[in-house]
Amino acid sequence: MKAFVTGGAGFIGSHLVDSLIKQGHTVTVYDNLSSGNKEFISQHLEKDACHFIKADLLALKKVEKEIAGHDTVFHFAANPHVRLGETHTDLDMNQGVVATYNVLEAMRRQEIKKIVFSSSSVVYGETSEMSLPETYGPTLPISMYGAAKLGAEGLISAFCGTFDFQAWMYRFANIVGARGTHGVIVDFIEKLKKNPKELEILGDGKQCKPYLYVNDCVEGILYGFSFAHDHMNLFNLSCDTTTTVTRIAEMVVQEMKLKNVTFRYTGGLRGWKGDVPRFQLDAHKMNKLGWKANLTSDEAVRKAIRDVLDAKL
Ligand code: NAD
Repeated sequence: MKAFVTGGAGFIGSHLVDSLIKQGHTVTVYDNLSSGNKEFISQHLEKDACHFIKADLLALKKVEKEIAGHDTVFHFAANPHVRLGETHTDLDMNQGVVATYNVLEAMRRQEIKKIVFSSSSVVYGETSEMSLPETYGPTLPISMYGAAKLGAEGLISAFCGTFDFQAWMYRFANIVGARGTHGVIVDFIEKLKKNPKELEILGDGKQCKPYLYVNDCVEGILYGFSFAHDHMNLFNLSCDTTTTVTRIAEMVVQEMKLKNVTFRYTGGLRGWKGDVPRFQLDAHKMNKLGWKANLTSDEAVRKAIRDVLDAKL
């Protein structure tokens, strides 16, 4: 396969690049390094199997030029910070919707038909369901980030319907692990490095979500890509357990070997506006296909804390 990976220098994208190269594929990474790090893929760049292009997806002509000659596109670039939508209301519209349109349009012009997309559980919005299957609806996201993911899914579906594309779309749980650059684990570690006596926790700490280890995530993506053959392949990608925010804080404190840390909660049900405080993803569809996460949510969190503390690349 000649793979084109947008966001391939990012946290999840770089792990995907590792796996694609390990499987013997040729990879082009297209990334503007806005939140990615070239170091994450530097081990591959000396070899012919991986080629890096520093460029922006908002430049359609550039995307079209560079995407030519590939057969599969893994579209992983996006703004990763859900909270930014509160203050920068056009960010996800551009980085999530327009960027995805540019990828699809460049593919159409270059006659590339296969796209794998990193969507998110946030497309479901806030629901009263305990566990959300892919068939749940209506999907009513409550953040700009979620709206952009849903918009991108819609565009991909439209290109499948109109131009005969084939798509694999994964709605991820929270992904954690080595090279993590954002999210609750990184946030807690940074705060505790600054002040080892007190930890500010956004919300009431009872927010409860599934955390999937990044290697499980990449394995699932490539498993679904190999074994799901529909025109439109839509999957939740998650483990079947959850972890509360307070539990994460306790694990971070333990792994940093700190004592007598006071937890100071900012209060309220959610960490910020647009945060979905409690959800679980139903991963039966992926399980039925033959994939299951190796680590539970708690195991993934603990391993990720160790990875981030050891700053493993
Ligand atoms: P990340 O920030 O590490 O990776 C995103 C990459 O995209 C970065 O390398 C960044 O430099 C690049 N990028 C952003 N805008 C770009 C643009 N306009 N042009 C070119 N490159 C651009 O984030 P991540 O956590 O690895 O997320 C990867 C994908 O998975 C994203 O689409 C994200 O929305 C999705 N996702 C992540 C999680 C999670 O828990 N991390 C959960 C659900 C979905």
